[in-house]
Amino acid sequence: MIDKKWDRRIRRANELASTYPFSAEGLSYYARVATFQKGLYSEIRKALAGSPKISADRPLRDELDLFLLLPRISGFLSMIHEIAPMPLSEAAGSLAEKGPGGWQRAIEDFWHGDAEVDPVMNDDEQIQASDFLDASYSDRLLTWIFLQPYAEYLADHREVAIVDGTPSTCPLCGGKPIVGVLRSEGDGAKKSLICMLCAHEWTFRRIYCPACGEEREPQMAFYSAPEIAHVRVDVCDTCHTYLKSIDLTKTGLAVPVVDELATIPLDLWAREHGYMKLQINLLGT
Ligand SMILES: [Zn+2]
Ligand SMILES: [Zn+2]
Repeated sequence: MIDKKWDRRIRRANELASTYPFSAEGLSYYARVATFQKGLYSEIRKALAGSPKISADRPLRDELDLFLLLPRISGFLSMIHEIAPMPLSEAAGSLAEKGPGGWQRAIEDFWHGDAEVDPVMNDDEQIQASDFLDASYSDRLLTWIFLQPYAEYLADHREVAIVDGTPSTCPLCGGKPIVGVLRSEGDGAKKSLICMLCAHEWTFRRIYCPACGEEREPQMAFYSAPEIAHVRVDVCDTCHTYLKSIDLTKTGLAVPVVDELATIPLDLWAREHGYMKLQINLLGT
């Protein structure tokens, strides 16, 4: 059941790589990363099988099993070093050289910090096109990708929490939303957000900016392109941020985190129109 969730992501990435040639390279890279994450998730599940569920009132990030995680990060970094495009490949090599002390610092800084991964943009705002990455940014990006399956395991093995209202960050771990989801409900659609770190999905208001709290309808708009009709760009004209939403009422086959990665032209469109992404994805876009 849990493996199926990872298999769905990997399968969707491979499918979309042929549908959207413009994203093929990023998607096949993602498929390999997700295969590693699936393996890590399953090792974590085996190792923690006997432990009790985390109680609903305990913040998810109170947990951190370095004993479990530290021995696994060097394999992850060599995998990324081997398969990632430059400059991330080089950044993985540099983090690998830092050794256990450096890895532990990177993990703790990310986990106990605000878990943000904000790129340092260069002039043309093309992160991938730059020749090098700012070390603190690349360490955070790498640590995020490595810790994501652990956070997801913790979220999956936690008592169900009753959440008040519709928070703009994840009610379990405080992470930012990485993508919105629209599912059919009655005659319309209901919206939810998916967490960038633990992949928890929580209900959200349809007209509300998760970045600044704007709720006036004229300030909130969405755009889509006919050739990618099931993905839309939700923009806020007050704080100029955007987040994509995947409309599952249009295609039930979509896997939101993967379809988000695959639709690079929408990111280009949004940036050209002056919007900043609320949360970059694990390809750094
Ligand atoms: Zn979360
Ligand atoms: Zn806003």
